[in-house]
Amino acid sequence: MSQSMPEYARTRNYLDLMIELPWSNNTKDSLDIQAARTLLDNDHYAMEKLKRRVLEYLAVRQLKDSLKDPILCFVGPPGVGKTSVGRSIAKCLRREFHCIALAGVCDQSDIRGHRRTYVGSMPGRIINGLKTVAVNNPVFLLDEVDKLGMSWQGDPAAALLEVLDPEQNHSFTDHYLNVTFDLSQVLFIATANTTATIPTALLDRMEVVWVPGYTQEEKLEISNRHLIPHQLEHHGLSPQQLRIPPKTTNDIINRYTREAGVRSLERNIGAVCRAVAVKIAEVKAASPKLAMPIVIKNRDLKDILGIPFCDREVSERLTLPGVALGLVWTYLGGEILFVEASRTEGEGKLTLTGQLGNVMKESAHLAISWLRANSKHYKLTNMTGGSDPMEGTDIHLHFPTGAVTKNGPSAGVTIVTCLASLFSGRLVRSDVAMTGEITLRGSVLPVGCIKDKVLAAHRAGVKRVILPRRNEKDLDELPLKVRYDLDFVTADDLDQVLNAAFDGGFPGKEKKQEAKQQIKQ
Ligand code: ADP
Repeated sequence: MSQSMPEYARTRNYLDLMIELPWSNNTKDSLDIQAARTLLDNDHYAMEKLKRRVLEYLAVRQLKDSLKDPILCFVGPPGVGKTSVGRSIAKCLRREFHCIALAGVCDQSDIRGHRRTYVGSMPGRIINGLKTVAVNNPVFLLDEVDKLGMSWQGDPAAALLEVLDPEQNHSFTDHYLNVTFDLSQVLFIATANTTATIPTALLDRMEVVWVPGYTQEEKLEISNRHLIPHQLEHHGLSPQQLRIPPKTTNDIINRYTREAGVRSLERNIGAVCRAVAVKIAEVKAASPKLAMPIVIKNRDLKDILGIPFCDREVSERLTLPGVALGLVWTYLGGEILFVEASRTEGEGKLTLTGQLGNVMKESAHLAISWLRANSKHYKLTNMTGGSDPMEGTDIHLHFPTGAVTKNGPSAGVTIVTCLASLFSGRLVRSDVAMTGEITLRGSVLPVGCIKDKVLAAHRAGVKRVILPRRNEKDLDELPLKVRYDLDFVTADDLDQVLNAAFDGGFPGKEKKQEAKQQIKQ
């Protein structure tokens, strides 16, 4: 074929790929569970549950060669080490590692390749990955499977189904390659921030392992053991040149980051290293005798990292009636959420702002109905002192960080507390946060992700957390320090929630006791 023919380059590329693909090249697995345990422990601090599951997985692989196990999917907030555990698994097995970023992929050809009839056709990411690693048994990390898109160009999740199905993937056909390739030796691991957006069929193929966020102490330990040495090395510094004492690290964690993982903590430590690198380079040129190591004090942080952006604000904001603090879960981990309410003269209208989903809106209606039904009992009043809190009154409920969409039932108890505070004119305790779903009859139902939520409350400096009673079992998962620092109140009904949320209880308690005594008499 003449080189000037248009077919020439295309055919050549195709044949090059055919030759380069690792049809029979593989690495030999060498797995020593004891060594794997040591390696996982050395690379990662904490995350015991995840490490245990990974070791089980590796042990079963060692005992049984042809493993048709479900694919492990690590789900958790960003920066908690999901990708890095994937890399460690490859290291334990001495396999090649390749990461396939799936966020935003909305074309199935991205997975399965384009047919060669198209101009600019190319193989999909799976075949490309195999070409890069040059062995047919690598560890493939499918990063961010929850952010797969979908468009008129087909559904990439459907294409992934074929890749991940052990019954089918021994004869995976890439459209470009047009020859089957055996993927059964590839070890797939997936990561995601939430399971809510993973297509059900795909989720069904995977075993979800939850990776929760870290506590303050864990973060401190992670930075001392891993992040600081890693950043020092990355910036060409040595521990003899720069020292970041634990006090300073704590200050960075508390005042410059608010996150479940450790990614922005690592970035901030990187910024400190850069600042010191500049200082060393500058001063060394002028006077070679610079006192080493440079110790970063708390007061130096303002110059290096700027003004701290998250000073503790909880108690400052709970200074008016009609504000309560809730705990919610987003795909970034647990978060604290303020609920604010105000009332004006009107016709009983309810306005809700803060980009709420339908479930949240319904919770607000439920809360108002329950408070109206019990207003006499709790001595709630409207603006003119009448006993129906909504009469002649318009209510506005707002959920700050208005740009973030919020949905989910767990803000129910917070809305009730916030409105009870507004209608009674009393302040909610400034150190209490709560979570729980409500019913029209005033029961408190259990909600999910308690660990992440409680960690967020702990981060924010809250002292008391109100939870549904049926979530009491979830407290076992919390680190001892957090359990020790916080006062947990578990509640079956809204009466118990209100009593715990207001100093000295909420009106109705005495009444109830009186009523009980009367019945006894
Ligand atoms: P994710 O994939 O969960 O978003 P990464 O795996 O990219 O997070 O982790 C971000 C950084 O944090 C990495 O440098 C990783 O080494 C570090 N890291 C996270 N958790 C731990 C841990 N438990 N021990 C040591 N380092 C950690």
